[in-house]
Amino acid sequence: MTASPEYRSQLHSLGCRVTRQRLAILHVLRDAPGHLSPGQVFARARREVPGLTPTTVYRTLEFLRTHGFVWQSSRDRGHLAYELAHDRHHHLTCLRCGRETALPTAEVERAYGRLEAVSGYTIDHEHVTLSGLCPKCQAEPPGV
Ligand SMILES: [Zn+2]
Ligand SMILES: [Zn+2]
Repeated sequence: MTASPEYRSQLHSLGCRVTRQRLAILHVLRDAPGHLSPGQVFARARREVPGLTPTTVYRTLEFLRTHGFVWQSSRDRGHLAYELAHDRHHHLTCLRCGRETALPTAEVERAYGRLEAVSGYTIDHEHVTLSGLCPKCQAEPPGV
């Protein structure tokens, strides 16, 4: 893992301090295939930053979220997951098996456009995550 200059300059340009924790967490999310829970971020980032605590990870993730570096989504019955803010995308997660499906961006934009027209709000929809039951789980009897 190399320290990436692009995060340094992005943090700088926002007037944010560049800390090892911030960089380590950005690297972990950059190298992750998808969304990570704070626990997973902690497990990976502590290899880069000895002495890191879960509390620091939570605080840093919240900091990075408010500054637009990462997106937060709610999954697994309200547990939060994080990923680097990148291309606009939307997904659907199965509450039972955890399967994830991408939602077609055009459809999501259209639906939110209609909701904005009806409500008069501007709705934050750069990263929409919906949850439900996938077709496979709907076909199976509920487990114990
Ligand atoms: Zn996502
Ligand atoms: Zn499922």
